[in-house]
Amino acid sequence: MSRIAFVNGRYKRHSDAVVHIEDRGYQFSDGVYEVILVKNKNFIDEKKHFDRLDYSLTSLDISWPMKKNSMRQIMQELVYKNRFVTGIIYIQITRGVARRDHSFPKGIKPALVMTARRLPKSNDGDIKSGVSVITIKDIRWGRCDIKSVSLLPNVLGKQEARNQGAYEAWQIDNEGFVTEGTSTNAWIVSSHGVLITRGLSNQILSGITRLTLIKIATELNFKFEERQFSVDEAKSSREAFLTSSTSFLTPVTQIDGVVIGNGAVGLLSMRLLQAYHQYINSSEI
Ligand code: PMP
Repeated sequence: MSRIAFVNGRYKRHSDAVVHIEDRGYQFSDGVYEVILVKNKNFIDEKKHFDRLDYSLTSLDISWPMKKNSMRQIMQELVYKNRFVTGIIYIQITRGVARRDHSFPKGIKPALVMTARRLPKSNDGDIKSGVSVITIKDIRWGRCDIKSVSLLPNVLGKQEARNQGAYEAWQIDNEGFVTEGTSTNAWIVSSHGVLITRGLSNQILSGITRLTLIKIATELNFKFEERQFSVDEAKSSREAFLTSSTSFLTPVTQIDGVVIGNGAVGLLSMRLLQAYHQYINSSEI
C-alpha cells in the first residue's frame, strides 16, 4: 500500500507528491511546520499544536492556508488513507511560490503540505534503557521559538550525535547553560529531587510535550522549577531526560560519557512517562 500525502489541495501518492522549484520553503527555508502525535486516531494536544502553528505563522507574517477545521479534516483523511491508528502528522506551510527574491512577494498564497506515517516501534527500547547525549555549542539563530523549517544547525548537531554513537545533542549557550536538544527539550532532576527544565524564551522551542509534562508534574505535586541549568549541573544530576512528540519522555543515562545517577532509568522519569502514557491514551478528539 502506498503512502498518501496532501500537497497544495490534492491527495497524492508519495512518489508523485512534489512541490514547485521556486517554493520559498525550498529556496529560503521561508516556512514553518508542526509534528502532531496521532494515538488511537486522536490528535494529541491538537489545540496546543494549532496555537504554536499560529504563533510561528504570525511571527513570520505568513497567513493560514485554510481554516483550522478544514486542516483538521485533511489530517483525519490522511490517517484514514494511510491506514494507521497511531503515528504522526507532519504539516508544513511555506510563504508560497514566487520568482526568487529575498523580500516578501506580493499576492501569493501560502503552500501547504501534509504527510502522515505510522510511528516506528523502535523507540520503545530507548525508552526502557535510556539513551546517551553529547553536548555541542548552540549555533542557531535568535528566534528558536519559531518552529521554522530552517533546521541546518539542528541537522548538523543530530549528525554529530550519531557520529559519536549518541541519540541526541544538547546545545549549550554562551554562558554554559543547556538550551535544548536538536529536536527535543532537555530536562534534569536535581540532586535534591527537583524537576528542572529551561524557561521559555527566544532561545528554545516551546515543546508541546514539555508543556503537557509541566502540567502533569504539577498535578502530581512534583517539585518543579523552570530555570536554566549548566552542563555541569546536568552531569551531576540524579536523572535526566528529553521530550518531544515522537520521543515522548526518553530517559538520558549518559551525558558526554558521564553516567547520570546510577546509570539506570530514574524513578521520577518512569513515573512521569507512565502518567504521560495515561494522558495520551485517554485523550479525546
Ligand atoms: N525543540 C526542538 C528544537 C524541536 O525541534 C522539537 C520537536 N519539534 C522539540 C523541542 C519538542 O517539541 P514537541 O514536544 O512539540 O515535539
